[in-house]
Amino acid sequence: MQDEYDVAIVGGRCAGASLAIRLARAGLRVCVLDRARFPSDVPSTHGIQPAGATILRELGCFDTLAARTDPIVRGTVVVDDARIEFDRGDELLGAPMLNVRRGVLDAVLLDAARAAGAEVRTRTVVTGLRHERGRVAGVVTPDGPVPARLVVGADGAGSTVARLVGAGEYCRTPAERVFLWGYFEDTDHPPGHVWLGRIGDHGYLASPTDGGAFLAVVAASRRRRAEVLSDRPGAFAEGLRSWPELEAVVAGGRRTGPLHTVPDRDGFFRRSAGPGWVLVGDAGHVKDPTPGQGIADALRQTTALAPAVVAGLADGDDDADLDAGLRRWWTWRDRDAWAMYWFARDLGAAGPVPLLTREVMRRVAADPRRCRTLLRVLNHDVPPGDLLTAPLALGALGGALLHRPGERRRLLREARAAVVDEVRHLRPPRAA
Ligand SMILES: Cc1cc2nc3c(=O)[nH]c(=O)nc-3n(C[C@H](O)[C@H](O)[C@H](O)COP(=O)(O)OP(=O)(O)OC[C@H]3O[C@@H](n4cnc5c(N)ncnc54)[C@H](O)[C@@H]3O)c2cc1C
Repeated sequence: MQDEYDVAIVGGRCAGASLAIRLARAGLRVCVLDRARFPSDVPSTHGIQPAGATILRELGCFDTLAARTDPIVRGTVVVDDARIEFDRGDELLGAPMLNVRRGVLDAVLLDAARAAGAEVRTRTVVTGLRHERGRVAGVVTPDGPVPARLVVGADGAGSTVARLVGAGEYCRTPAERVFLWGYFEDTDHPPGHVWLGRIGDHGYLASPTDGGAFLAVVAASRRRRAEVLSDRPGAFAEGLRSWPELEAVVAGGRRTGPLHTVPDRDGFFRRSAGPGWVLVGDAGHVKDPTPGQGIADALRQTTALAPAVVAGLADGDDDADLDAGLRRWWTWRDRDAWAMYWFARDLGAAGPVPLLTREVMRRVAADPRRCRTLLRVLNHDVPPGDLLTAPLALGALGGALLHRPGERRRLLREARAAVVDEVRHLRPPRAA
């Protein structure tokens, strides 16, 4: 007789493991299946926003992770000549940022899922779905079927569950940057400091990470992809030259291991709930990685999904409640992610910083209240519209037109494009 679970979760990293912790603690019978061996890395950088650190604290994993790395409480944000320094970010945002490699983070989460009572099957690939009465009713693996009342696809951007249920995509946006990153030893970096930047044609993220290492990321425009891939060290060094202060930190250390990159990862939303299934984390929605919110958002999504699953499964055999709860969660996910999706796309856009954005960022940098709002936007506490208000945009446009009379046409073009974009993306399409 096969074990029957309440929930089978495909994928055991930040989305799958965090959901498993919550569901198992609520008393559900949970099976997590992941084809990977743990601990192991994923091709991704790993700055966890304070909002994510707060959830890790709720899950009881924060202290273990904070003991492995230097929590980040101060930083430098640079957008061309606009510069913002912040300190005690943990006081403003309720927690420090954490930067731990996924080999560490995901293993800690999976251990907590096991301790909560979930069964964890690593090195187990899900190849198919079970169906009963027109509903998904478990998964199929090479070792046999795993029956479950609900299947959660937490299996990343290339989700097998999404493919098997035929979950359609909407609002796809192309990746515009190539991320290149490396780890350095013996750098003389200030403790607990993060660098975020966009200078010329490059984006940057750098901070201490676990094991005393220093992570530095350079993101070049996608049109230079072939050039970047043919000479990673050359492209990385060239990127760092545009930010001499960061270059100096890295130059004082020694790179360990290769420079990493990933294939293009487009942004998208997917239909994320149906009879007996739901998609969470990257399986259901991917945005440009520039604001570094994927992990914190996966944790945020599972925090909201867990009560819907517990309530839906509480009622014996009535699947209608479960399905309705999952659809409501999907609608919430789209609303929650919508403005941030377009903000992330703009942050990660290829090419040099638009003139209007430069002027906006100068004004933000000059105003401590706006600086705090920027940090809260990056933490997904408040929507980007709280920072990019009409008075700020109009003031920036007026100032730029006055000081750059030779650039009037370009500025007006940028302003017009921003307004059209704003109107087009006022609200998400209706989910269910
Ligand atoms: C270049 C880059 C940089 C990034 N930088 C950051 C950053 O600094 N900060 C941040 O917060 N986010 C960042 N992100 C985003 C972040 O990596 C993702 O949002 C996050 O990994 C999503 O987690 P997940 O648990 O949904 O999926 P994943 O981490 O992709 O995990 C999916 C799991 O599912 C398993 N799986 C897949 N298919 C199957 C199957 N058929 N059977 C069994 N198991 C399966 C996989 O083995 C994997 O373990 C970055 C992304 C990229 C591409």
